[in-house]
Amino acid sequence: MTLGSVVVVGAGLAGLSAARALRGQGFTGRLTVVGAEPHRPYDRPPLSKEFLTGTAEEPDLALERPDDDLGATWILGDPAVRLDAGRLELHSGQTLAADGFVIATGASARPFPGAVTLRSLDDARWLRHRLRTARSLLVVGAGFIGAEVASAARTLGLDVTVVEAAPAPLAGPLGAEMGAVVAGLHAAHGVRMICGVGVDRVDDGGAHLADGRVLPADVVVAGIGARPETGWLAGSDLTGLGLTDRGTASSAARTAAPECRAWSRSGTAPPGSSRASAGTCASSTGPRRASGPRSPPGPCSGWLRSRRGCRTSGPTSTGCASSSPGTPSTATR
Ligand SMILES: Cc1cc2nc3c(=O)[nH]c(=O)nc-3n(C[C@H](O)[C@H](O)[C@H](O)COP(=O)(O)OP(=O)(O)OC[C@H]3O[C@@H](n4cnc5c(N)ncnc54)[C@H](O)[C@@H]3O)c2cc1C
Repeated sequence: MTLGSVVVVGAGLAGLSAARALRGQGFTGRLTVVGAEPHRPYDRPPLSKEFLTGTAEEPDLALERPDDDLGATWILGDPAVRLDAGRLELHSGQTLAADGFVIATGASARPFPGAVTLRSLDDARWLRHRLRTARSLLVVGAGFIGAEVASAARTLGLDVTVVEAAPAPLAGPLGAEMGAVVAGLHAAHGVRMICGVGVDRVDDGGAHLADGRVLPADVVVAGIGARPETGWLAGSDLTGLGLTDRGTASSAARTAAPECRAWSRSGTAPPGSSRASAGTCASSTGPRRASGPRSPPGPCSGWLRSRRGCRTSGPTSTGCASSSPGTPSTATR
């Protein structure tokens, strides 16, 4: 089937990359990009690094190049709410018919009641502003984004505490040994790291830990992971698409929108599907800029590396603070 029109849902890195790929492969039809946010595509990795510390500004985040000539119609600030039978419905009530759809709606931060999250430019604008007036920050979760926010806040001179339920930061992706190295880096930079205890709830008094401690903080950020932004498809008739909560598609990948394809997180097309479109729901595809690839992970690679190189100094042997109240630890300031 020759495609006369394609709608790309999601105006992030994957959406922009898909639009570029379509034009690059000779697609001359009508191309529309729909974005939930009011912004043109921007780079998210600096949001938890240079943008927070103030060494990058909004124009530095732009993903589009001056020579991009996509000839696309952009509909921004109007999220897609449903996809049925070749028609995409937007929040405003506008509907878009097309021969093909790219689903590139990425992921959203897992929320934690009472805490803020960092996923979008608007989140980062708020947090950047807040970190300039706050004196203390508590981060729930010592994953990549939590660690980066903690690091940025220390750079800005805040009193920073990170609470991590696992025995060490990043113990899952990096292993316990590297997790201890990361904990040492945090300690060396003045971050108070409390591991092995969860946060039960956050309220105006601060973070209430599972062991009974209450840690007050001016700002509480949750960095507890992301989930595929596929909820908007819940009411859609996509039974044949084979979408899962990880955004993968079966080899059949047939749907009421016959040329709609979802791609696996590895970025490969499901076997047997035509390359009508490309994109992911929880994307790890597309060219990575800024902070480079996530693997191999390490204290001076991937997420922990800034554009200007590793911002951390050499590792120390210190680990996390004990989860037991009152137990002294070398990692505690
Ligand atoms: C703070 C932060 C720091 C990061 N740092 C790194 C790093 O250092 N290294 C690294 O490799 N990766 C990093 N990442 C991850 C990286 O940013 C993502 O892998 C990348 O953004 C994925 O691109 P995407 O286009 O698939 O999804 P997204 O960037 O999530 O884009 C999806 C777009 O779809 C839009 N959308 C969502 N729902 C709808 C809807 N219903 N209708 C229309 N549009 C919709 C969203 O508004 C968004 O603009 C970081 C992420 C964050 C949040």
